[in-house]
Amino acid sequence: MRSTSPVFTGLPTTIFEVMSRLAIEHGSINLGQGFPDVDGPEDVRAAAAKAIMDGPNQYPPMLGIPALREAVAATEKRFFGLERDPAGEVIVTSGATEALSDCIMALVEPGDEVVLFEPLYDCYVPLVERAGGIARFVRLAPPDWAVTDAALEAAFSDRTKLVLINNPLNPASKVFGAEELSRIAALVERFDAYVIADEVYEHLVFDGLKHIPFSSLPGMEARTLRVGSAGKTFSLTGWKVGYITGPKALIEPVAKAHQFTTFTTPPHLQKAVAEGLAKGDEYYRDLAGDLERKRDRLRAGLEGLGLQCLDASGSYFLTADIRPLGLGDDVEACQRMTREAKVTAIPVSAFYRTDPPRHFVRFCFCKRDAVLDEAVARLRAWIAGR
Ligand code: PMP
Ligand code: GLN
Repeated sequence: MRSTSPVFTGLPTTIFEVMSRLAIEHGSINLGQGFPDVDGPEDVRAAAAKAIMDGPNQYPPMLGIPALREAVAATEKRFFGLERDPAGEVIVTSGATEALSDCIMALVEPGDEVVLFEPLYDCYVPLVERAGGIARFVRLAPPDWAVTDAALEAAFSDRTKLVLINNPLNPASKVFGAEELSRIAALVERFDAYVIADEVYEHLVFDGLKHIPFSSLPGMEARTLRVGSAGKTFSLTGWKVGYITGPKALIEPVAKAHQFTTFTTPPHLQKAVAEGLAKGDEYYRDLAGDLERKRDRLRAGLEGLGLQCLDASGSYFLTADIRPLGLGDDVEACQRMTREAKVTAIPVSAFYRTDPPRHFVRFCFCKRDAVLDEAVARLRAWIAGR
């Protein structure tokens, strides 16, 4: 048999799918893969249902329906003061995953170096390598996952083409501050690089912090492609509606990658997301406020069991140190917790390419309070019975 792509051949199935399958198999509470257990706003879902029945259900425009491109631009202006031309600076994609793939395919040429921050979301490295790029890592160390100048300097070189930054950061739930972002931006400028800013958790920020889009930093607008996801903003992760915004010159090649990847995204979902984005500021406030309360609830529960959690200022996730469980590494611990305690989490080592820490697991807290409480109760009973 002829060989198949070395980038994908032999790659393990993504940890999110692996743990979700295991959770189903064992009737476990799934605090692994990041998805809410209550669907997002009823009016947004009703708008999608109505749009299916009213039609048309044919190919919408390749770059996204005008109403959604306008809504994305208006939302970026409302929350972050960014100015985007909906006609040429916004592309609607089938999820942030497609958006990331389009951006990487459009920017990276064989031999280009791409700076990535580790821990990182698991699709980044394969996509970079599929484009022929070479990953260079900036390692972020717990507990605060700070960006050091030494690590930055070591990762950049004259071959750096692109920096891919996820903020807020999955799985660390770090929200990058202005000072750190400016230091990264200075290197981007110095090495004349582009930036992909994966900002899917832009509205899920807690503790009074404010999300700072990379595009809003001085000099970065012309270099940055910003990626968002309606799945996160509306608690509808299965919808897979994402967007890319950026300067025309970069959007142009990205649109060509998009046209031969999915070409477009279901029109009824686009219409509904356009309506959703226009919701008042209180919707966005309540979304973050509810999640912040859930984070605190799960954190209190886990710490009551002796599992220390790291700070988590954004996204859906809490990282807990599992050493007190005495269960071996994070992969073993997550397997046993699923089979024996019937609670599922994600081993944080899955977010590293090399030499991962093996004592952290990631718990997802975007679940009903009763489910979070039941998960903690199951863990308590299990720990007591061991
Ligand atoms: N980026 C990050 C950091 C994520 O956590 C996720 C997970 N959903 C995605 C991208 C993908 O988003 P989507 O479901 O819209 O493809
Ligand atoms: N982003 C989600 C997470 O981190 C997973 C999405 C997926 O499974 N592709 O849990």
